[in-house]
Amino acid sequence: MKLISIVVPMYNEEEMAPIFLEEVSKVMKGLTDYRFEIVAVNDGSKDKTLEVLKKSLDTYPWLVIVNLSRNFGHESALHAGLIEAKGDAVIPMDADLQDPPSLIPELVKKWEEGYDVVNAKRKSRKEDTFYKRKTAGMFYRFINKLSPKVKIPENVANFRLINRKALDQVLALSEKNRVFRVEVPYVGFKVGEVYFSRPKRDKGQSKYNTKAMTSLAIASTVSLTTRPLDWCIGWTMLTGIVTMLSIISEIVIAILLATNILTFSWIYMVVWLGINITLLIASVIMVQLTIMSQYLAKDVLEARNRPDVIVDEVIRKE
Ligand code: UDP
Ligand code: MG
Repeated sequence: MKLISIVVPMYNEEEMAPIFLEEVSKVMKGLTDYRFEIVAVNDGSKDKTLEVLKKSLDTYPWLVIVNLSRNFGHESALHAGLIEAKGDAVIPMDADLQDPPSLIPELVKKWEEGYDVVNAKRKSRKEDTFYKRKTAGMFYRFINKLSPKVKIPENVANFRLINRKALDQVLALSEKNRVFRVEVPYVGFKVGEVYFSRPKRDKGQSKYNTKAMTSLAIASTVSLTTRPLDWCIGWTMLTGIVTMLSIISEIVIAILLATNILTFSWIYMVVWLGINITLLIASVIMVQLTIMSQYLAKDVLEARNRPDVIVDEVIRKE
């Protein structure tokens, strides 16, 4: 029988933990053709999450608790859980039931149809505030423009099914700046989708404020692409052109002044000269920055040491 692992990071979820375990267990028991486990990662909770989880071990023998030494954050906690998960398919979920367990059978069905990754995509962001909806939309447009080859699916969080083959590739990525929702599209494979509407958090507090969302957006961009470093090239060219035009204009006007064709206070020319020298210095710095950014971009890729290519299968005629 195939094993399905549910991985759930928990930070101060003493209220949600029992409800989550009960709801997910109910759904999983309905999937009679599969064995399942719930890997709960206690991400250094300050409340009684760990105690609650430990007490649940008797009721839920399929529960595995990964207790982290302190709070590492959602992405790292998820990673710890993914390492521990033994499943043929693994489903990361949030503890607050905003990723509805009732969708699990659909994810599994799609997986059995032959998809390696099944994204749980939100039908709409109606439930979100106007602000979150707008910023999320802007973020997806921005990031997907930056990266033509690896697309980040819009309105898909960590909630998705990923099979062993794809998960092993994700876990083989040796980077430390981990962003699951970038790594999964990076490794590729056959991707399917199911749709759901996201309910509001039932109990407890959301840990994602604007600051956390911003740092996730930055971490995702950095993880996905080094392309922003290329912007330096454009800015350098712009600075260079402005500098050249300004210097040439000043020379022309200086000649006109010297030949008395134009009358113009020399004091302005001196100020202009100062501006031109500043522009020239800025241009030299920009050129050097461009060179550095290009080395940096290549070095980031080397340091990250991701596989440059991932083969799904090799097919030959028998
Ligand atoms: N979480 C975590 N470590 C943290 C912050 C959050 O493990 O430092 C967990 C949290 O317990 C929940 C999931 O990550 O299971 C998503 O957090 P939350 O529901 O606060 O995020 P939101 O739904 O508001 O984006
Ligand atoms: Mg939530």
